[in-house]
Amino acid sequence: MARTLRIAFIVLCLSVLLDLGFYLPAHHSISVLALAVLVAAFALGGIAVAILAERLTTESLGRLRARAARELPPRLLELAAAHGLCVTRISVRNQRWRWGSCSRSGHICLNWRLVRMPPDVRDYVMIHELMHLKRMDHSPRFWKLVAAACPEYQAARQWLREHGRVRQS
Ligand SMILES: [Zn+2]
Repeated sequence: MARTLRIAFIVLCLSVLLDLGFYLPAHHSISVLALAVLVAAFALGGIAVAILAERLTTESLGRLRARAARELPPRLLELAAAHGLCVTRISVRNQRWRWGSCSRSGHICLNWRLVRMPPDVRDYVMIHELMHLKRMDHSPRFWKLVAAACPEYQAARQWLREHGRVRQS
């Protein structure tokens, strides 16, 4: 994103420079060279700002992932206890294609991005994975378990369809 912005900014500066060079009359007091220096300075400033923005984004992502590691497991354990379920292990990962997963051994993996979701949606994803401790499939029986534990699950699934880019499994 920042790289695209940088390229767009440089292209914009170059086009402004070319336009000025084309339209300015030869006797104009500001030389094209001075303008080139000015535009180059703007371009360098733009690059510096873009690099800084990229660095800040990386930092805030790190903070967000740390918050996810801190906040998601206790909430999962809370929900597991509320439904009388036992989780053997919890991981918070940077999954590309899943919001969460559950293994037969009771190991639940959660996507750190859940920390940014509305609490109802985050809870639905956790309950979905917890119900896999009872059933490892997506059969009608499984969905009955989900509905009993999370009556508003359809709204959460709708939210994920509209806002989420990775899928639930
Ligand atoms: Zn599933």
